[in-house]
Amino acid sequence: MKPIILADRVKRLGVETAFVVAGQAAAHAAAGNRVFPFHLGDLNLPTPPNIIESAYRALKNGKTGYTANVGIPELRQTLAKELNRTRGTSYSKENVAIQPGGKPVISKFLLTLMNPGDEVLYPNPGFPIYESQIQFHGGIAVPYGTVVGDGNFTFDIDGLEAAITEKTKLLIVNDLHNPTSAECSADDRRRIAELAVKHDLLVLLDEAYFDIHYDGESTSIVSEPGMEERSVILYTFSKRFAMTGWRLGAALGPEELITIIGKLNVNDESCSNHFVQWAAMDAITGDQQHVHNILDVLKKRRDRCVDLLNDIEGISCFRPNATFYLWPDVTRAMTNKGFSSYQEFIGDILQHTGVSMCARSHFGTPLPGETNYYLRLAYSGIDLEAIEEGLARLKGYLER
Ligand code: PLP
Repeated sequence: MKPIILADRVKRLGVETAFVVAGQAAAHAAAGNRVFPFHLGDLNLPTPPNIIESAYRALKNGKTGYTANVGIPELRQTLAKELNRTRGTSYSKENVAIQPGGKPVISKFLLTLMNPGDEVLYPNPGFPIYESQIQFHGGIAVPYGTVVGDGNFTFDIDGLEAAITEKTKLLIVNDLHNPTSAECSADDRRRIAELAVKHDLLVLLDEAYFDIHYDGESTSIVSEPGMEERSVILYTFSKRFAMTGWRLGAALGPEELITIIGKLNVNDESCSNHFVQWAAMDAITGDQQHVHNILDVLKKRRDRCVDLLNDIEGISCFRPNATFYLWPDVTRAMTNKGFSSYQEFIGDILQHTGVSMCARSHFGTPLPGETNYYLRLAYSGIDLEAIEEGLARLKGYLER
């Protein structure tokens, strides 16, 4: 047989590099070492029992066949109502296409709207799948960065504006941001919306962490004037309800776009898991006490992590009000230890302490002008006791 020749586009396909770090952590654990898993944005908390019961009931009631490609009408209607309540939109079920997770919304948004050669603005540092999918489908990925704001990171909106050209068609925004936890102020939201309207951009609002907000409530950019008709919202059940492995999310937006996204569903997965959709109904409409408990646990972990990180010589870390990620500035700590490569630095930390985490380099190529070094710690998959032990070991290693 001749050698297999892969499609050209495969060369442009990226990966979610946090999973690579997970592999290294697993190898370290398999060699008999204790690992402190700060690397993956998964939760080690159980899905609330009412949701599990509901899935079980649905299975017993025969909710095991295909559903409509865009999902069961009951869940579409429920989600439309939920977003109208929390974002002030005027969606009906026709504005909702259920998806097997939030992630598929990224590629389906791009496939629906992006032609090869179109420029797409996306956050960098950012969720690595944006860049991967833009390039895979032949678009031009144009990064914009984050900046230090008032007690937290926010987005470099001046940089975003400067990067807009006549080829810019799409904008991806991930307010409540993975990996930095950057959060838009009211003024930032207004400015982003004004830019989108002025330059007639269509916008993917990745709201994966909209409900992981500790004090106060999230506000969506979709609520700004002119945004509902030009935005697709990425909604996911993964984080809010600790349902990462159930794989359920949705795309919400103008009916014209949702119809095409529905056609992509027909072509890709036919439909999302039937019984999971009924369980998701319960997630939204059922008892929210367990969801509050999840947030309480995460908040305690955040506070412990931030206090312990700031107690380490050479590290400084904000206390973000949302997501479950920390993005400490480790410039001094890294220089003190004599490292200039992230890969070597986090590899050495893993070997000496068992602490496993991601670095700036896992979230896109560093932008010109970036001088400081950052790591990303997720506290969603690690208990308080392990946080304390792991960060004590990190302190010992860095201050040695
Ligand atoms: N968007 C962002 C920013 C994320 O961090 C994630 C998951 O980590 C997702 C989307 C996708 O999540 P899921 O496919 O589990 O809904």
